[in-house]
Amino acid sequence: NGDRYAKHEFAINLEGGTVRCPAGETTRIHGAVARFEASTCEQCSHRERCTMAKHGRSISIHPQEQLLQKLAAAKATPEGRAELRKRVPVEHGLAHICQRQGRRARYLGVDKNIFDLTRYAVIENLFVADRMERALAA
Ligand code: SF4
Repeated sequence: NGDRYAKHEFAINLEGGTVRCPAGETTRIHGAVARFEASTCEQCSHRERCTMAKHGRSISIHPQEQLLQKLAAAKATPEGRAELRKRVPVEHGLAHICQRQGRRARYLGVDKNIFDLTRYAVIENLFVADRMERALAA
């Protein structure tokens, strides 16, 4: 949205099913989107800072919006960022597995693919153990 209002500047109330914009207008969430009517936005004094759209402004609601809000709140504090950093080695490990295995399932059926994933996880763990052993030896 360029330098216009970002999504985080809208107050998303998932329990109430509403979104409040920076101008204080509220609209309901329908499915995965909250739309502010063109008639509302046309008269708004914040419009220049909000949207270039002719049909009002819409805010997409992610299927994991609650989790995203929780992560954004954690990111806003030093304690929260320190907590989130604990996740970095896990994400790196998952990225390495994905890099080796590829993004697509190789086999038909869940059991075979779980076995395949487990095999790549074991290989990743062997690489980690090897790196640790080399670091200790150095
Ligand atoms: S343009 Fe619409 S969505 Fe944006 S602040 Fe104004 S009323 Fe709210």
